Amino acid sequence: MKHNFGAGPCILPQEVFKQASQGVLNFNDTGLSILEISHRATEFVAVMDEAISLVKELLNVPEGYSVIFLQGGASMQFAMTAFNLLPEGKKAAFLETGVWAKKAFAEAKLIGDAEVVASSKDKNYSYIPKDYTIAADSAYFHCTSNNTIYGTQMHNFPKTSVGTVADMSSDIFSKAINVADFDLIYAGAQKNVGPAGATVVIVKNDILGKSGRTIPSMLDYQKQIDAESMYNTPPVFSVYVSMLNLRWLKAKGGVATIEKENIAKAKALYTEIDRNPLFKGTAAVEDRSNMSVCFVMENAELEKPFLKFAEEKGCVGIKGHRSVGGFRASLYNALPIESVQVLVDAMKEFAAKNV
Ligand SMILES: *Cc1c(COP(=O)(O)O)cnc(C)c1O
Repeated sequence: MKHNFGAGPCILPQEVFKQASQGVLNFNDTGLSILEISHRATEFVAVMDEAISLVKELLNVPEGYSVIFLQGGASMQFAMTAFNLLPEGKKAAFLETGVWAKKAFAEAKLIGDAEVVASSKDKNYSYIPKDYTIAADSAYFHCTSNNTIYGTQMHNFPKTSVGTVADMSSDIFSKAINVADFDLIYAGAQKNVGPAGATVVIVKNDILGKSGRTIPSMLDYQKQIDAESMYNTPPVFSVYVSMLNLRWLKAKGGVATIEKENIAKAKALYTEIDRNPLFKGTAAVEDRSNMSVCFVMENAELEKPFLKFAEEKGCVGIKGHRSVGGFRASLYNALPIESVQVLVDAMKEFAAKNV
């Protein structure tokens, strides 16, 4: 059995894989595959509607917000947010907490003006900056809620009069959030929602239509909302499997239940990292992520052997990103606590053999 700690695309529930494969063969007893039906067919429109209403229900999305499924991944949102929300003569404020935040900032700069209000680059993005000011006349404040590569997570968001835009690609649906605190949330599907191909966007309606920019149609939130996420052919399979996965999450008890499990999983792994003399965490303790756990070995020469040892135990996808090194265990929703226990046991056993 494999324990998939991959950072993305990543583990989804086995049950969802089974339902998805059934849908490939015979979708809802239509005698057709989900891969061949028209996206305008009533059966698929029902899938899109259910996916959207599950997002609303699971995250308690208030009135006045729209939920859309787009393409282009989180990376397209880096530009799309700026096109829609950044008027000429205004600046967007960015919190630089890693590679994704930097990319979002760079894309916004291609379109308009933007500034970095704080950065944790000085310590290789191992912490979340806390004391900074967001100018009250900023167009919006952009942040990355979970820094997938560095293993830091924003456990609080700054209180600001400026609207907050958050890239929640790697922690959406992992915990309860207050959507009303955000003007816009986006997430590439492939890390807690479903397969790569779809992007979830939750946007407050009344912030749209104010950038004064000429926006290409595909990048215009209002056009995508008006077309009910079908301005063009949507990523049918990704939306379908995302819907199945959100159904799975709802049946489990929703984000409140999964949040407890995710905290327990992270606690089990961090406890071992802190206890085991061979390993050490790389992120500042108060900013540690419950989704992306990054750690290295005191003796870097043992990293390759440990990686091999863990793989022999079935733990895959734990090699750290090249910019941090060491290991990264992603603990997304579908990863059971039993898998974390296998990794913890491997760390214990490896330590016993390497004293
Ligand atoms: C993976 C990731 C991205 C990139 O997502 P794509 O969908 O591949 O564009 C952006 N932001 C964060 C926080 C990520 O984890």
